[in-house]
Amino acid sequence: MATVLIKNGTVVNHFGRQKVDVLIFGEKIAAIGSEIENIPEHTQIIDATGKYILPGGIDPHVHFHLGTPAGYSSDDFISGSKAALAGGTTTIIDFVTPIKNESLPVAYEKRLADAKGCFCDYGFHISPIDFHEGLYQEMSHCVENLGIPSFKVYMAYKSSIGISHEILEKIMVMAAHLNALVTIHAEEGDVISTLQQQYIMNGYDEPIYHALSRPSSVETDAIKAAIALAKITKAEVYFVHVSSPDSMKCVVDAQLEGYPIYAETCPQYLLLTMDKLKGSFEQTAPYVFSPALRDANQKDALWEYLMNGSIQTIGTDHCPFNLKGQKELGINDFTKIPNGAGGVEHRLELMYTFGVLTGKITLEQMVSLLCFQPAQIFGIKNKGILTTGYDADLVIWNPVGERIISTKTQWQQCDSNIYEGISVTGKVETVILRGEFAYKDKNHGSVSGNYLKRELLG
Ligand SMILES: [Zn+2]
Repeated sequence: MATVLIKNGTVVNHFGRQKVDVLIFGEKIAAIGSEIENIPEHTQIIDATGKYILPGGIDPHVHFHLGTPAGYSSDDFISGSKAALAGGTTTIIDFVTPIKNESLPVAYEKRLADAKGCFCDYGFHISPIDFHEGLYQEMSHCVENLGIPSFKVYMAYKSSIGISHEILEKIMVMAAHLNALVTIHAEEGDVISTLQQQYIMNGYDEPIYHALSRPSSVETDAIKAAIALAKITKAEVYFVHVSSPDSMKCVVDAQLEGYPIYAETCPQYLLLTMDKLKGSFEQTAPYVFSPALRDANQKDALWEYLMNGSIQTIGTDHCPFNLKGQKELGINDFTKIPNGAGGVEHRLELMYTFGVLTGKITLEQMVSLLCFQPAQIFGIKNKGILTTGYDADLVIWNPVGERIISTKTQWQQCDSNIYEGISVTGKVETVILRGEFAYKDKNHGSVSGNYLKRELLG
C-alpha cells in the first residue's frame, strides 16, 4: 500500500487549525502531527508549505444525470464527479427519484446503475413521491439495508413528484419511527401553479416570471407548514436550499425551541440576485432554478444566518442544463425551462473568496459547512474530519492566486455558467480520495468512487 506524507501545511478542521504533517497509509490517515515517527521507506512526500489541508468536501445536494422532459441534465455521474473533484469535493449525495408506481428499492437499483463510473464517493437520498401500501416497508428497507437514512420530499412540483401536506405528515411519522431524516424542498406547489398560470395566460412568458411566480413567501409558508408537522410528528427535518431570511427566521425559532431542524443554503442564494433574470432569454434562462433568486437585501440578510451558525451546510443543488436544446425549450413559456444550474465545482472557491476572505466566516466555519456538518448530519462515517483513522480524503488548497470563472475552463458539461466572470481567489491543487490522487495539477486520477452506505448517528 502506498504511503504519502504531506509536510509543512496547515491542517484545518471545524474545531481549529494546526501546522502539522499528515501521513497517509492506504486509504486512511495514519498519523497527524509535527514529529511523525516510523515513516516507511519510499513514502511519497508532498511539500504543502503555505497551503491549507482541508477535509475532502461533501456536497449533500447534487443531481447528476437527472431525467426531465427537456432530457437529462447535462452532467452525468462521470463529468459531474470530475467537476466535483476539481472543486475540492470528494463525496456527493445525489438522489433516487422513482417514477410513478415504482418502488423505492427498484428505483435505487436503477440509480446505482446510473452512477456507475462516478469518480468521487457518493450516496443517495431517496424520494417517496406518493403514499402507497407497503411504503413503510420500502422505507425501512432503505434505512436498514441500502444505507439510505434520508428521505427527500418535494412540496413543489405537485404534477410530478410533489406531495401534499397530508402525505408529508405520514412520511414524517414513518421517518421518525425509523430514526431517519426528512429532507424537504419547501415551496408551496399549488400557489406556484396558480401564479404560473396567471402569468402565462396574460402573456408574461419570460424567465423573470419564473422568479415572480415563486416569491420567497411560497418558501416561507412551506417551511412554516413543514415545521408545524415536524413538531407534531417529532420528525428530524433538513430543509434543502433555503433561499430567504424570512424562511431562516422560522427555522431558527424552531431550533431555539429545541427541535432537530437543519438548514442548507447554496452559494447562488448568497452571491446572486434576481437582477440576473433581467435581460435577453439567452442571458437570463441559465438563472432559472428553484427556489428563485432573491433581491439584494434578502441575499445580504441570508449571510447573517450563515455567519451566526443557524445554517448547517452548503450544498450546490448542482443540476445544469444547456441553453441550446434544453433551456431554450422554454423560450415562449418560462414554465418549460428546465430548472437548475451547475455549481458543484465552485463551492469551495466561492465560499473561500466571499465567505472567508471577506471575514464573514472563519476557515473553520467553512470546513464545518462544507465537510464536517454534511458528514455529521447525514451519517457519513469516517469523513469530514482530518484525524487518525479517518478516510484520507483531503484537499491541498493554495490560498494564493486569482482566476475568473468561465464556461471555457469549467469541468461541468454545460454551455453556460451562472458564475461566469466572477473572480475567485485560491485554488484546488491536489485532491486525495481514500489515499489516492483523484485530482492533481488539473488532471484526474483513475481512482473510482465508492457507494456509501450511511447510518445516522444517535
Ligand atoms: Zn435539488
